Amino acid sequence: MCCFSRAADYVRVTGDDWTRLGDRADRYAHFIGHRAFLRMQDGHCAALAVQPAAGGGLDFFCTIYEHRPQTCRDLGRGSPECAGELAAKAARVAQLHPGLAPPPPSGPRS
Ligand code: SF4
Repeated sequence: MCCFSRAADYVRVTGDDWTRLGDRADRYAHFIGHRAFLRMQDGHCAALAVQPAAGGGLDFFCTIYEHRPQTCRDLGRGSPECAGELAAKAARVAQLHPGLAPPPPSGPRS
């Protein structure tokens, strides 16, 4: 759920993060002043994929999981901090995707 925000400066992208993103950096990150951040679109990170799930509802997953910024790595899936994000943003996500409160993103799909 860390992936949802309307703020353009939501997830900081450090120099190390930019290097890790490699060729993806320009697509998924942008500069505001002298600092880089993940691009946000439609209320969530541009790297978050939203697709219909096999069993109904929607699947959410990070398309750059192996290359995601350190901030994303630091929010451990299922951690207390993650649970806090889920609780704080569930209503916003449900508004974007009615009837759905998604789990944190899983890794990339091939
Ligand atoms: S985990 Fe992936 S989709 Fe979520 S904010 Fe980080 S880079 Fe974006």
